[in-house]
This record gives sequence, structure tokens and C-alpha cells, in this order.
Amino acid sequence: MIPEEEKIYQTNHLCSGCGKCLVVCPQKCILVDRVASIRTSDCTKCGECYHICPHDAIDYE
Ligand code: SF4
Ligand code: SF4
Repeated sequence: MIPEEEKIYQTNHLCSGCGKCLVVCPQKCILVDRVASIRTSDCTKCGECYHICPHDAIDYE
């Protein structure tokens, strides 16, 4: 069984917490609490968050 903490991808130190990724995510699997994190078990890797991020803070695959 995969430990729960491995199902969360944490954005890198460039994240400003702007929330733009949160708005575009079709899966609603991004949480922003100062910085963004992605619940990877629900992520389809569509790339929307990656493309909208103004700070290149998402490098999850
Ligand atoms: S890749 Fe797509 S589904 Fe995954 S967190 Fe980003 S916007 Fe959401
Ligand atoms: S769009 Fe980028 S900078 Fe803004 S909250 Fe998401 S990951 Fe952080």
C-alpha cells in the first residue's frame, strides 16, 4: 500500500500561492495553503496547471 504522503506532490520553492493552477484544474485536485500541492491520485496529468503557472513552480512529470 502506498503511504498517504506519497500521494501529494508539493510544488517547488517558486510557488507564490497565487491559486491560478487551482482555478484551471479540471480534476479539482490542487490544494493551495500558502503554496500549492497536488493530490496525485486524482491528477490526470493534463498539464493545465503546468502551463498556467507564472512561476514554473510545477514540475510534476
Ligand atoms: S495536471 Fe491537470 S489534473 Fe493534474 S493537477 Fe494539473 S491541472 Fe489538475
Ligand atoms: S499557479 Fe504556480 S505559483 Fe500559482 S499557486 Fe499554482 S503552483 Fe503556485
